Amino acid sequence: MDDSDDMFGDLPGGERKAADSGAAELEAAGQNAMFAAPSPAPAEQSPPEAPAAPAIEAAAPPVHAAPVTEAVQPYRVLARKYRPQTFSELIGQEPMVRTLANAIARERLAHAFLMTGVRGVGKTSTARLIAKALNCVGPDGQGGPTIDPCGQCEPCRAIAEGRHIDVIEMDAASHTGVDDVREIVEAVRYAAVSARYKIYIIDEVHMLSRNAFNALLKTLEEPPAHVKFLFATTEVDKLPVTVLSRTQRFDLRRIPTALLEQHFASICRQEGVEAEAEAIALIASAAEGSVRDGLSILDQAIAHADLESGGDEGDAGGGQARVTAARVRDMLGLADKGAQRRLFGALLEGNPQAMLEAVDRQYALGVEPLALLRAAMDLTHRVALAQTGRGEADAPMQEEREAIGQWARDMSPGQVHRLWQLLLKGYDEVRGAPDPLAALQMALLRALHAADLPDPGALAQTMREMAASGAASGVAAGAETPGHGAETAPDWKSLVERIDQSGAMHLASRLRLQVCVIELAPGRLLYRQEDGFDDDLRPELRAALMAVTDRRWTVEIAEGEGTPALAAQEQAAKDAEAAEIRGHDLVKAAFAAFPGAEILTEDHDQPRPGDGRHWNKQP
Ligand SMILES: [Zn+2]
Repeated sequence: MDDSDDMFGDLPGGERKAADSGAAELEAAGQNAMFAAPSPAPAEQSPPEAPAAPAIEAAAPPVHAAPVTEAVQPYRVLARKYRPQTFSELIGQEPMVRTLANAIARERLAHAFLMTGVRGVGKTSTARLIAKALNCVGPDGQGGPTIDPCGQCEPCRAIAEGRHIDVIEMDAASHTGVDDVREIVEAVRYAAVSARYKIYIIDEVHMLSRNAFNALLKTLEEPPAHVKFLFATTEVDKLPVTVLSRTQRFDLRRIPTALLEQHFASICRQEGVEAEAEAIALIASAAEGSVRDGLSILDQAIAHADLESGGDEGDAGGGQARVTAARVRDMLGLADKGAQRRLFGALLEGNPQAMLEAVDRQYALGVEPLALLRAAMDLTHRVALAQTGRGEADAPMQEEREAIGQWARDMSPGQVHRLWQLLLKGYDEVRGAPDPLAALQMALLRALHAADLPDPGALAQTMREMAASGAASGVAAGAETPGHGAETAPDWKSLVERIDQSGAMHLASRLRLQVCVIELAPGRLLYRQEDGFDDDLRPELRAALMAVTDRRWTVEIAEGEGTPALAAQEQAAKDAEAAEIRGHDLVKAAFAAFPGAEILTEDHDQPRPGDGRHWNKQP
């Protein structure tokens, strides 16, 4: 109860906020009160229906309120209490304020203004500030329109309290009809009772009916000099062009999260409420650019904190209440988007510890596993949209936009779609699982391991390359040039191939099966014959070797183990290659991504590049 004194005065403000339970209600009450205000004007008598009812409502709160309620109900309507009373208190809208200041300084004021923006960014606050700016007479009663209304003169105080006779506020959401507007149009003809300008503030103006707009249009075309219209809307697209073209438009921006944080922290200080920085940050990010939404969350958080600290203190002196991050997270539940992003980020970075920790923290706060998975799916969806260039406006918070933009650049569209598939599969699993938390962890881990996968096209390419390199390395030195010179150590495998190609296919086949080479040098071969064979290959082998190498060969059977026969080598190589493929990171990831997948090998002697391996998901 300090710097807002100028607005509420000492009595009515403080009592009124205790009497109502929510910012929205107060908002409505305030608007009705202002709407009812014109009734004393002489012209109002002709259509008497409308203004009567709201007038009663409006008068009510100060009468019913009793100071006692304050202690019983620790709920503080901060959005009302800290409504900006000067343009400098209006946070995040500097460009608009500058334009307006210029217009006032140069006396080039439009007769109709349109304030647009999402809910809670300060549209009606701005409208009231403009009303003050236009009607302020200064403390000495001699001042003119100013961007710095004094807040002390009678017009300033009356407007702040919602009782100025010439500032008429109307909520088009509840007064959509042509009669409501006709009433205004009638009243417009008469001069202001006590102020410089007669000001009509119409909130949610897009809600007016077509006829109501038409009725208003004539007045907007030829407005009396003493009348100003201030329109506010969340849905500017719904306004007729004829109205748009006759107003000066101000687009109020969402308030950046950092600015909201400062604002909320300062309010906590003024309220004597201790709040953890992280708690404030959580509230600011959940507010998504809206001061009013953020303040109503802060209201709740303080109410919780009050209850925990005993709750028997009045709101003026309370220094015990402490708003903690844990409590706020608890309160916000799913709305903790920062936690969702951290979880999703850990998943994409392939950091299982961080990911599972994030899951545990959220679970401990009472967030359902299914909800966590949904949040991850939501982020995936938005990354996909961002990759198409859409979805930017979808994320109101800068942090979120940046994160999504970064992920959209980091991942290929194929990866995003695979991730979506994996999460979707996980969603079904978690929903049907007896232990949803375990199912969630498994589903996220599977997605985590698979997130490294390249596109299907890149995967196929990699598999081809692996098949090719497997063929080369699996059979040791197989690809070396055949030994034809004396210096080059001859290579048994290529010798056999040459024998095969020279037409001695039957001999080549027996050589592959039976010959375990002990020593191989130019012109000299010592070998052990594989167990179970007893045909003497030596004469035939000598002749064949001489035929393919143009030299005489000593070929003898000798003692020793020798290198396994070529046929045995090939089998061993195939086995090793399959094992190696299974051990490859990429393949591990693929197996993680497609549980139940298997490696299929074509039935041929050795793998050839391009046709060796296929990845198929079993039906
Ligand atoms: Zn003033």
